Amino acid sequence: TTKLASAHASGRPTYSFEYFPPKTAQGVQNLYDRMDKMHSFNPSFIDITWGAGGRHSSLTCEMVKVAQSAYGLETCMHLTCTDMAQEKIDEALKEAYGSGCTNILALRGDPPREKTGEGEAFRYAKDLIAYIKNKYGDHFDIGVAGYPEGCDEETDADAHIPYLKEKVDAGGTFIVTQMCYDADVFIAWVKKCREAGIPDTVPILPGVMPIQTYDSFLRRANWTQCKIPADWLKQLEPIKNDDAAVRELGKDLVAEFCRRLLDSGTTMHLHFYTMNLAASTRMVLDALSVTPAPETHNPDLKPLPWRQSLG
Ligand code: FAD
Repeated sequence: TTKLASAHASGRPTYSFEYFPPKTAQGVQNLYDRMDKMHSFNPSFIDITWGAGGRHSSLTCEMVKVAQSAYGLETCMHLTCTDMAQEKIDEALKEAYGSGCTNILALRGDPPREKTGEGEAFRYAKDLIAYIKNKYGDHFDIGVAGYPEGCDEETDADAHIPYLKEKVDAGGTFIVTQMCYDADVFIAWVKKCREAGIPDTVPILPGVMPIQTYDSFLRRANWTQCKIPADWLKQLEPIKNDDAAVRELGKDLVAEFCRRLLDSGTTMHLHFYTMNLAASTRMVLDALSVTPAPETHNPDLKPLPWRQSLG
């Protein structure tokens, strides 16, 4: 967050890219190719998700290591704490530490299947945050999840705010939100968070999902309880079967949403749910004119280590 703050001091918005570990070896290679391409967009950090209950956790750890220690990308590892053996949490933190990773997005994960009651080590994300702080002090910048529109467990967004504050009080230093498409909703929610005592030294990074296809856009918005502005649907519906046209218009709609957030002063950062794809995120960034021109790309970037190993 210190790095974000110094970039923002110069008036420049920053952005980050979220990736998830692919299921196949070919998928991993394709993702490394995309990360390679997207590195030149100059994200301030990237993050790698954690499979619920620790599924694919070794791949998450490996990807964090490659991105952070081999390639020098500022990397954030997601980590969930329910349905996870404590050793797995310890191992993941140790690996992240060893890779030079200094950012963890601390999450609860899926609700525990059984309530084990008293003595449960990690019931909520705040318990994981306290654990990380206790074990590693200030080594990790700890991100936490925020829900501007609630979630299916608790649809009242206001009800989450005191718990969000508890996560910040426990040591959370930045907040990444669930995807949102309604600028008014996001701006009003940030205001409420600040009024509830979450200081503005804790940046709130809006989750932005670029639009790939009409169906996936509706499905994901539905799945995450995210409202779609009525005029978006009115414009997208007539062209829903033309993927290229949807992406083109979607780029304008999402860029306008981002522009409103940046202009509102509630945030200087955009967090992209890339779905492991480059093009639609790039289109939004280009529409916002915030990416570096190709000729200004850093010539000192090291060649990607996975490229070397793949030959
Ligand atoms: P918590 O903050 O612990 O909250 C869980 C629920 O309990 C909420 O309803 C909250 O309001 C309530 N609550 C919190 N504290 C209290 C309290 N003291 N008393 C009573 N109720 C309380 N999942 C993955 O499996 N892997 C990922 O990589 C992943 N990445 C994510 C990234 C982002 C940006 C977001 C927004 C979500 C992500 N998730 C991920 C999903 C997340 O794990 C789920 O949304 C999960 O259900 C809640 O996690 P949390 O960290 O917000 O939980």
